[in-house]
Amino acid sequence: MHYRPRDKFPNLPARIAQLGDLAYNLWWTWHPEGRELFIMLGGRAAWSRNGHNPVKMMHELDDGVLKLASLDPRFLRYYDAVMARFEGDMDPSSGWFCTSVGDPKDNTVAYFSAEYGLHHALPVYAGGLGFLAGDYLKECSDLGIPSVGIGFMYPEGYLLQRIAPDGWQAGACERLDRENAPVRRLRDDDGNPLLVDIPLLDGEIYVEVWKVQVGRSDLYLMDTAVEANDPWNRSISDRLYTGDPEQRLRQEIVLGIGGVRVLKALGIEASALHLNEGHPAFAILERIRERVDEGMSFHEAAEEVRRTTVFTTHTPVPAGHDKFPFPLMEKYFGSYLRRIGMDRAEFFELGIDPRDPASGFNMTAFALRMCAHRNCVSQKHQEVTRQMWRHLWPDLAEEEVPIDYVTNGIHVPTWIDRRLGNVTFNQYLGRDWLEKHDNPLIWELLEEIPDRLLWDQHRRMKRALINKIKDRARDKWRDPESDSRTIMALGTLLDPQTLTLGFARRFASYKRATLMLRDPERLRKILTDPHRPVQIIFAGKAHPDDQQSKLLLQQVYNAAADKSFEGRIAFVEDYDQYLAQYLVHGVDVWVNNPRPPMEASGTSGMKASLNGVPQLSVFDGWWVEGYNGKNGWGFEGSEGPTNDYRDDRDSEAIYEILEKEVIPLYYRVDDEGVPRGWVKLMKEAIMVAGPHFTSRRMVKEYTEKFYRPALEETKNAPGSA
Ligand SMILES: *Cc1c(COP(=O)(O)O)cnc(C)c1O
Repeated sequence: MHYRPRDKFPNLPARIAQLGDLAYNLWWTWHPEGRELFIMLGGRAAWSRNGHNPVKMMHELDDGVLKLASLDPRFLRYYDAVMARFEGDMDPSSGWFCTSVGDPKDNTVAYFSAEYGLHHALPVYAGGLGFLAGDYLKECSDLGIPSVGIGFMYPEGYLLQRIAPDGWQAGACERLDRENAPVRRLRDDDGNPLLVDIPLLDGEIYVEVWKVQVGRSDLYLMDTAVEANDPWNRSISDRLYTGDPEQRLRQEIVLGIGGVRVLKALGIEASALHLNEGHPAFAILERIRERVDEGMSFHEAAEEVRRTTVFTTHTPVPAGHDKFPFPLMEKYFGSYLRRIGMDRAEFFELGIDPRDPASGFNMTAFALRMCAHRNCVSQKHQEVTRQMWRHLWPDLAEEEVPIDYVTNGIHVPTWIDRRLGNVTFNQYLGRDWLEKHDNPLIWELLEEIPDRLLWDQHRRMKRALINKIKDRARDKWRDPESDSRTIMALGTLLDPQTLTLGFARRFASYKRATLMLRDPERLRKILTDPHRPVQIIFAGKAHPDDQQSKLLLQQVYNAAADKSFEGRIAFVEDYDQYLAQYLVHGVDVWVNNPRPPMEASGTSGMKASLNGVPQLSVFDGWWVEGYNGKNGWGFEGSEGPTNDYRDDRDSEAIYEILEKEVIPLYYRVDDEGVPRGWVKLMKEAIMVAGPHFTSRRMVKEYTEKFYRPALEETKNAPGSA
């Protein structure tokens, strides 16, 4: 049976029929010329009204507009040029992978992740883990790595964040409008949706499958909200990271086991599997079951799967790993294990954390034992992880624990400011800088960019950010229910001349959003200095079930509304991929102060650095590798008996760096008004991030370290020709 998405634009004139493919291919998210084409078609107003989502916009356009476009020579000229480029990029037989690794056809890598951050029109993400996965798929497309992503369609994935006047996050959940999102249900030739069954307990559970095209990469999202399921099963994929342990287990069964069954139903033979964090680790079991069904013994099958599976862990603290009570595991896996010929005790053994055997079935322990290729997401994270999991290899010294690291990176075409890239970098680094951005040599040319020019670019991005924030406040002010306190807290008094710090991320408590607010007197002095003022822009969402994080958010909001800070603190609602773009481009300093060693990597600081926004960060995650003494500021997180004690010391470290280094450097300008020392720092930030902290470097490293050997294994496996 052949499954494919249905054409959703029946009225598109033949001459411009490919617009339909383009709208559903997220290629346009990282190719500005693709977006420009849609803007030309529908107009800028329609483009923003529809959330920069071409599918929604095209559904809104009437046939007359489409007809007119198909006859307009100017539009057609641009259309042909964009389509030529688009088609070229879709060619499956080109790219780095083909020339350096092998034929993409028999080397598919299946990538499993609970979330994907690709664009705000498809909000199936919570934060960094999702953006890593999204950037990964885009990069695989660029490099020609034959990758297939597996994930979930979360109808309630999107939290529209609204802050009540008292600062409490009153999230409205907006149901994702699938018909208008860049995602299509897979159907058979008769138009019936593909329905994949997953054995769960006594009955089956069914998923429908939606396809997202990410350049050359395919992403399949499973959806449990289908008729055939009873209500409890239907709600399995309702939302990301549900707190209820049983529903969470069911989610992970569907993600892992269901994901492998979806691949099977689609006829996709994955040569290697990559598990992004422990959530999808049950995929291993289903891969084993497939082999056992074909006649292998359990141990043979397990060994083959082990050698072809890559596991990336992201969680540096024991509490962060998913653990399921054994009785629950018993309930769900009893009959399944019999099918694989696996003994229950033996299975449970694989998920035991030796330090805390009673804590339940640990997904990380399971994945570490069952995958031959294991990695952390930064060098520091590797140290912490080796220490945490050394008990799994009792005979090895800590530094021999076989867990590698591949430092995270960001997708450069997605995160670079468009004009900074297309104008300034094109001019000074060469027009092909984007294609060659992992070559450190081209970044040496950055020195050639005149300080004044880079500074002007930066000021433009900063104005764009502040204008965007004020526009949002203005929109809100029109709402008859809004009050002036809220409008002020949203950033109405922000000033483009003032040194601006940015702090935007999920409100998870380890990220310490309120750290800078710890000594309000000292902070007030810093912010309200009449000659050298400072302002802070905060943004971020709290998980809807996390009351503690909502309290932190409320504190930040109250500080933003506190008149004694004179409007120098803003809290901007609805931190998403769209707002993130403005923030990482437009603030002056990116602040990052998690409680070490809790931030395995952190990627927002890479996005900022790439755009010339230096980071001020505690040494944790990528910053331990990224900081070179010239590209930002760093401080050691303090050791101490209590969190309170550590937070006091760490906030003092930040105030000190601000007072002694950041503020003087920023306000030291020459006769032309250019802060030369600051611009030097900006260049250094770009030069470090540009060639190295990118998904280009990361994906190549995954390929060389893990995929290549795993793909070799598959070729040598007994079953293969
Ligand atoms: C990059 C990004 C993140 C991850 O940021 P961290 O530095 O890892 O906290 C979260 N949310 C959005 C919207 C992002 O763009």
